[in-house]
Amino acid sequence: MNKYVYSFDEGNKEMKNLLGGKGANLSEMNKIGLPVPAGFTITTEACSKYYEDNKIINEKMREEILKNLELLEEKTNKRLGDKNNPLLVSVRSGAVISMPGMMDTVLNLGLNEESVKGLANKTNNPRFAYDSYRRFIQMFGDVVLQIPKFKFDSILDKEKEKNKLDNDTDLTVDHLKTIIKGYKELVIKETGTDFPDNPVKQLLMAVNAVFDSWNNSRAIIYRKLNDIPNGLGTAVNIQSMVFGNMGNSSGTGVAFTRNPSTGENKIFGEFLINAQGEDVVAGIRTPREIKELEVIMPKVYSQFIAITEKLEKHYKDMQDIEFTIEEGKLYLLQTRTGKRTAKAAINIAVDMANEGLIDKETAIMRINPNEINKLLHPTFNTDKLNKAIKVTKGLPASPGAASGKICFSSEDVVKLTKNKEKAILVRLETSPEDIEGMSLAEGILTCRGGMTSHAAVVARGMGKCCIAGCGELRIKEESKFFEIGDKIFKEGDHISLDGNTGNVYEGIIGTEEVELIGKFGTLMEWADTLRTLEVRTNADTLNDADTAVKFGAEGIGLCRTEHMFFADDRILAVRQMIISKTKEERQEAIDKLLPYQKEDFIGLFKVMESRPVTIRLLDPPLHEFLPHKKEDIEKLAEDLNIEYSILKKDIEDLKEFNPMLGHRGCRLAITYPEIYQMQVKAIILAAINVKVEKGLDVKPEIMVPLVGIDKELEILKKLVDQIAEDVLRKHNVELDYKVGTMIEVPRAALTADTIAKHAQFFSFGTNDLTQMTFGFSRDDSGKFIGEYRNKEIFDKDPFERLDQNGVGKLMEIGIELGTSERKDIKLGICGEHGGDPHTISYCHNIGLHYVSCSPFRVPIARLAAAQAAIKNK
Ligand code: PEP
Ligand code: MG
Repeated sequence: MNKYVYSFDEGNKEMKNLLGGKGANLSEMNKIGLPVPAGFTITTEACSKYYEDNKIINEKMREEILKNLELLEEKTNKRLGDKNNPLLVSVRSGAVISMPGMMDTVLNLGLNEESVKGLANKTNNPRFAYDSYRRFIQMFGDVVLQIPKFKFDSILDKEKEKNKLDNDTDLTVDHLKTIIKGYKELVIKETGTDFPDNPVKQLLMAVNAVFDSWNNSRAIIYRKLNDIPNGLGTAVNIQSMVFGNMGNSSGTGVAFTRNPSTGENKIFGEFLINAQGEDVVAGIRTPREIKELEVIMPKVYSQFIAITEKLEKHYKDMQDIEFTIEEGKLYLLQTRTGKRTAKAAINIAVDMANEGLIDKETAIMRINPNEINKLLHPTFNTDKLNKAIKVTKGLPASPGAASGKICFSSEDVVKLTKNKEKAILVRLETSPEDIEGMSLAEGILTCRGGMTSHAAVVARGMGKCCIAGCGELRIKEESKFFEIGDKIFKEGDHISLDGNTGNVYEGIIGTEEVELIGKFGTLMEWADTLRTLEVRTNADTLNDADTAVKFGAEGIGLCRTEHMFFADDRILAVRQMIISKTKEERQEAIDKLLPYQKEDFIGLFKVMESRPVTIRLLDPPLHEFLPHKKEDIEKLAEDLNIEYSILKKDIEDLKEFNPMLGHRGCRLAITYPEIYQMQVKAIILAAINVKVEKGLDVKPEIMVPLVGIDKELEILKKLVDQIAEDVLRKHNVELDYKVGTMIEVPRAALTADTIAKHAQFFSFGTNDLTQMTFGFSRDDSGKFIGEYRNKEIFDKDPFERLDQNGVGKLMEIGIELGTSERKDIKLGICGEHGGDPHTISYCHNIGLHYVSCSPFRVPIARLAAAQAAIKNK
């Protein structure tokens, strides 16, 4: 049979699931001999039972509570409601995962017209007793009886006004008695019944209220934000009160065993003399630094320091400790693992491992990989951010913080930044043509597009702040302004983007620069020795590749060659290739592109040295490379010496109803093999060049996109091999190159055995695979994913965190079939999910060999991969 209540003598720190964090730790502190006021915990199971029984405290639970109350009375030698020596208790929530401030608390419970006299006599301090009583009625009225707090405040304020008093502390016993009378009248008026005088009734009502507070709206929101399951329930802790407000030898405070913002190994805390806990939190009085306590109460201070050291050693982590001093005697009211900044988390973990308190694995497991993001990108200054005016919110597509002047086109960004001004590029959606503007802008804001839209992918690659899918923006690109509600923002106005939250602000907010701290490197080295997953990067510029190598990338997992087609010096040849009418014309244009592509690859190979470089042959539909504005079409017609009307018609003909499912990927090469032939030639020539000139052991991996049918790959693998072997023979060089494919069409996963006959590697393109599995367009899903999350159809955007049940199942089928055909097939992922820690852990479990992610996510992936390996040890 279930036991619903545990005294602090019965629990320990391992019982967190049952007793909640606070309850388990109070028991533990009691167990190791620290001064904890006596008490007991009602379990989280009791909370679940309460909800199961439609919010009823059942008879057995009630009996156990009363039995434990009796034991508490015996232990403290006081009685609840006693008129001579009353016991007062606090009733506090305590969830398994701490939810600071989200649930309710009642203090000073047990006071009534009788026991308040007892408290006055016993403490020889009637003012203290009546002030405690007043506070209790107010807190109970607010939390349990649900009477708005301001109604109590106005009674208190009236009394102060009537007597011309400035501070609560000036109220005399008589004033307090008048206030208490007013409070009680208010209770009758609001609830139709008297304030409960019976202390046992008070206690049971308070327990009910704390259970109920598990489902108040702020707790529900907090759980949603922090991925805490709704079913856990809260425990309730009932503890005898100690008072920090009994005069100048009393006080209360909070301390962290190390600095929670820097991680420095030095106690950090605050206290107030003659105060109760809520006074410290409420910020009415300014607390004093903990070291001042040494001067005021040297004995208590040294006892406290010894205890904090003991607690940190005991829990092997930084602790956040609440304490109260009652007439010179120290009590501990809580200890828990302290919340900390990303920087502090790294410093503390590495220091503790070096001190021998924890091992390296534990140090690694303590860091939330997503938090590292904050250390790699600039952030807004917190004070300035708090004062800023938020205007709207979009998807946090790429982290960082950016302020600048609004620009509506890539060209305008170029112009503005030439004058050393900062620009924010605002577009309906970005296209590859915007690449230059994107690279020069501080940040990018788009109206359309999801987490894997062009803007998001490119911005993440560049480590640039980007907010996408910001649906409230009504952009008039031509007229160079946008509206949000009734506000209008024109070209040149200042805005700020917070890529960590998706918030858009008016004006300029000061940023704080990236600070890569020393211990970060140590942590990364430890992670590398523990992980088995390789970490590569998605990079198609030298800059990206360089950044990724600095962040520890072990190769390129995806080079999107289309991004190379847009540079000024070659786009004309690309366009000529697309609109050419004959094979010869096309070949002529393609021949012009060859030297450029060769130089691109030489650059990449040099940066990557002997690391593998996966180069994907052209993927997007060709019309993406053509202009659409009238003046641009006119200019191109002139450059290519063809008639405007003919060119316009060609462009019209290339338009597709659904380009995502259109003439793209390997389908391009089935119809126009010349493009891939040129790209393969460029890759092999570049590899030969770098191998011969630099003596580097280059490892090109040629990847064919969007394969869904084995025959497609069979044809294209033959094409690649023919060209490669031909070029190598001519140069008399041997080269270890590989040919493989992306698995991004569901059919490819389902028939992976036949596809593996022609592929030396598979790289899961989970962006397209997600798109095609759900039938959600990558660029349009931003419009409805938010609502899907609100309605709890999704916990997370499936373009951000891999859908393991559906898309993952296809991957698992692909892996099984692929390896059944080819045992040594190399398996990786290069969709955006490759940088998501949750997905990385899954990739480890299903047996991938590498993940590939944008350069700025490489450190995150290294850490997440190490954590996955540790979890599976
Ligand atoms: C993918 O589809 O997952 C992928 C990596 O390719 P792209 O995003 O370029 O379509
Ligand atoms: Mg793709």
